[in-house]
Amino acid sequence: MAAAQSTMAFTGNSLDRAETRRADAAWLKALEQDGRSRALAFSNLSPRLSDDRLDWQPLSGFAADLPKVFLGLIGDSACYAVDVGDQDMPELYTDARTAAAILPVDESAIVAQGRSLLDWHARHGFCAMCGSRTEIRKGGLQRVCRSDSCQAEHFPRVDPVVIMLVTRGDHCLMGRQSRFPPGMVSALAGFMEPGETIEETVRREVHEETAVPVGEVRYVMSQPWPFPSNLMIGCLAEGLDDKITIDPQELESAGWYSRADVQAAFADDPSAGFTIPQPVAVAHHLLKAWLAE
Ligand SMILES: [Zn+2]
Repeated sequence: MAAAQSTMAFTGNSLDRAETRRADAAWLKALEQDGRSRALAFSNLSPRLSDDRLDWQPLSGFAADLPKVFLGLIGDSACYAVDVGDQDMPELYTDARTAAAILPVDESAIVAQGRSLLDWHARHGFCAMCGSRTEIRKGGLQRVCRSDSCQAEHFPRVDPVVIMLVTRGDHCLMGRQSRFPPGMVSALAGFMEPGETIEETVRREVHEETAVPVGEVRYVMSQPWPFPSNLMIGCLAEGLDDKITIDPQELESAGWYSRADVQAAFADDPSAGFTIPQPVAVAHHLLKAWLAE
C-alpha cells in the first residue's frame, strides 16, 4: 500500500506548507520581496516545464498583480504558483495530466496543489453569501468577503470521489464509458454525496451503475486529482452477485474480468482484448493491489 502511494502521480508533495505561519500577513509580504522566492507559472492551468522538470523562476520576474498562491517552502525558498493567463508561447506549458506522466512524482504533486488552488481562486472572486468581491488570505488557503457587513470566509474545496474495484473470487468488475479510449475498461467511480460514508457511496454507485450488490468495502489508497480539485478514494469492494444490469446513462458496458486477463492487460498482451488505465490513474494501482493479494 505504501509503495503504491509513493509511486502514484500527484502524491508525495514534499513542500512545507507552513500552516502555522500563513496567517502572518507581514511574513507573507516579506516573502514576496525575498530574492530566494520562486514561482511556477501556469498558463490556463497548465504548468511550465523545462527538461521534464518544473521550471521554477524567480518570483521577482512576474508582475505583482498576477493571481498567485503561496504553496509552501522548499528549504529557505518560498514557492508560489502564478496564473499567467494566455501566453505567446504555449509550447512551454504542458497540460497537467501529461505533466504527471513526465515529472518526478513529488513534482507532479506540486502541480496538483497549484492547479487546484489557482482554479479555485479564479472562480471565487465573489462572495457566495452576498455577491461582494472577495480577497485572498493565508497565501491562498482562504478568501474573505470584503463587505464589512458580511466578511464571510471561504475555503478551497476538495471534492471526494470514490473509485472501487469490485471483486468476486477470481474476477473483478470493470466498465467502459463512451469517453474512454477505444478498448479501455476501468474501475467504477462516482462522486460522494453529502451525508454519505465512503462505504455507502461505494455501494450506491456500484448499484446504480451495474445493479451488483456490494458487501465489505476496504479503503486502499487515495490520490489528489486536480481536475479541478478531487480526491480519489480507492477501495476494493466485495461483489455479492455476478449479475450485471448496466445503467446506459453511466456506462457503455461492464463485465467481469479474470486475474489472468488483467495480468495480460498489464503486460500489454493484445490477447487480453482490452486495455487498462495508465499508471497516472489510481485505477491502475487498485488493479495492481488486487493482483498482489
Ligand atoms: Zn459576502
